[in-house]
Amino acid sequence: MKIVTVIGARPQFIKAAVVNRAIAQTNGIEEVIVHTGQHFDTNMSDVFFEEMAIPKPQYNLNINGLGHGAMTGQMLEKIEEVLIKEKPDWVLVYGDTNSTIAGALAAKKLHIKVAHVEAGLRSFNIDMPEEINRILTDRISDILFCPTTTAVNNLKKEGYENIDCQIKETGDVMQDAALFYAEKAKKPTVEIPNAFALCTVHRAENTDNPTRLRNIFSALEAISKKTPVVLPLHPRTKAKLTAIGYDFENSAIHFISPVGYLEMVWLLSNCKFVLTDSGGLQKEAYFFSKPCITMRDETEWVELVENGFNKLAGADTERIIELAQQVSNNLNLDFTLRLYGNGDAGEMIIKCLK
Ligand code: UDP
Repeated sequence: MKIVTVIGARPQFIKAAVVNRAIAQTNGIEEVIVHTGQHFDTNMSDVFFEEMAIPKPQYNLNINGLGHGAMTGQMLEKIEEVLIKEKPDWVLVYGDTNSTIAGALAAKKLHIKVAHVEAGLRSFNIDMPEEINRILTDRISDILFCPTTTAVNNLKKEGYENIDCQIKETGDVMQDAALFYAEKAKKPTVEIPNAFALCTVHRAENTDNPTRLRNIFSALEAISKKTPVVLPLHPRTKAKLTAIGYDFENSAIHFISPVGYLEMVWLLSNCKFVLTDSGGLQKEAYFFSKPCITMRDETEWVELVENGFNKLAGADTERIIELAQQVSNNLNLDFTLRLYGNGDAGEMIIKCLK
């Protein structure tokens, strides 16, 4: 059996690393990796391949720095060429990026079966590029691997039981990654303050809206006066902050460069709480038993909010500050609930494809 894996962005490298390990432990599967090039810098791409021992991609399409249409269009064209040459049995796509929809669409038009890992998630905010990519990818996938029961139910509500596809609840590959790499955690080489809050901001809905961006960073500056905020700065956020004239020199925030996953796991293990707009980090906070404040108006990981592990703050300065105060005090949360499976999602996915 031959699988073509299409990946291009940081969270997809982590997910693909988990599934690649499951493939390596199974006989009779050849995997061809296509890197679309969406993320290409050393600390947003190479470090993940090195640290997580992901095989070097056979194809590197090097498509980046373009608008959504041009990026997705170029990916579609190049992935189609690869698929015509490789003739795989399956194309495996992850999550909700432009690489995801481009991989799925190229395959489907060639009548190659599509498997979507992280299917069924919905934020119900169709203005998010991620939501558009998720919905369209799900609709043309042959197997939908869902990380949660909520995701399965979302698909059922949309009538997926009546269309020609299979739905499988596998648990979340990010849980597999957290369990497997926790022991390999690496302290960042840069100085990290004690008792810090870990923060990431990179969503377009925040970075591309100067008011939201300013509100969020006002809150982070205020929180920093009490609890040091360590923020691995995404290149997009850096560019947008620079564009609005952000005063990095006098900032109280502890900015660092983006880190590899092993350093991220160390930061997650050692922080007091998490502030983020990332999808992956909301769950990782939970995997590492840390409360999380999500700086978005909605989340697709609703079970975290329902169980009190995650608090939605939007881009509301006062609310972010108030919630940071709240989670600094012990919330007595029970992190032993298994909301995302048993850490064997990668194996389940490969068993099912076989
Ligand atoms: N991550 C990382 N280094 C960083 C920032 C994030 O390894 O400097 C990891 C993070 O732990 C998570 C994944 O990248 O596993 C999530 O990526 P991101 O927030 O870019 O995307 P999202 O999850 O929102 O799709």
